[in-house]
Amino acid sequence: MKNLWTPWRRAYVSGTGEQSSGCVLCEALARRGEPDSLVLHVGVRSFVLMNLYPYNSGHLMIAPREHVADLSRVAPEVLSELMQLTQLAERVLSRRYRPHGFNLGMNLGRAAGAGVPDHLHLHLVPRWEADTNFMAVFGEVRVIPEDLREAARELREEFLRETAGAG
Ligand SMILES: [Zn+2]
Repeated sequence: MKNLWTPWRRAYVSGTGEQSSGCVLCEALARRGEPDSLVLHVGVRSFVLMNLYPYNSGHLMIAPREHVADLSRVAPEVLSELMQLTQLAERVLSRRYRPHGFNLGMNLGRAAGAGVPDHLHLHLVPRWEADTNFMAVFGEVRVIPEDLREAARELREEFLRETAGAG
């Protein structure tokens, strides 16, 4: 169990969140400069991060920077950037992982399966023809392979490359 990785719990304990203490997305955004950060790209109103509990390799989340739960309250310019960052994330994942397809979606509310019901976010999950169901393998055991952080470093560079127009 030495790879059990609980940065969010550490965040709760230290209590240094900018706002909405206990929100893993706000905490992640606030700690984006740290070496272990899973945040890959920060836009004007939205940001992209890796899912700490991935369904598959390259499972990303795209969320507003604002702590907001209700889709109907999200401003048009925020929605627009959410989708633009989703496009960007799709390009990056396509280049890095060469998936055969993607799942893209939102779980709104805990009853719908949202793990972070108070801060809405899109899930973007690369899929392969023959992929195994990650959840079936790991179930509720929240053990994250060490290479998640390495993957985050690589993907951050890919986002930089894409947004620099070099790619
Ligand atoms: Zn939040």
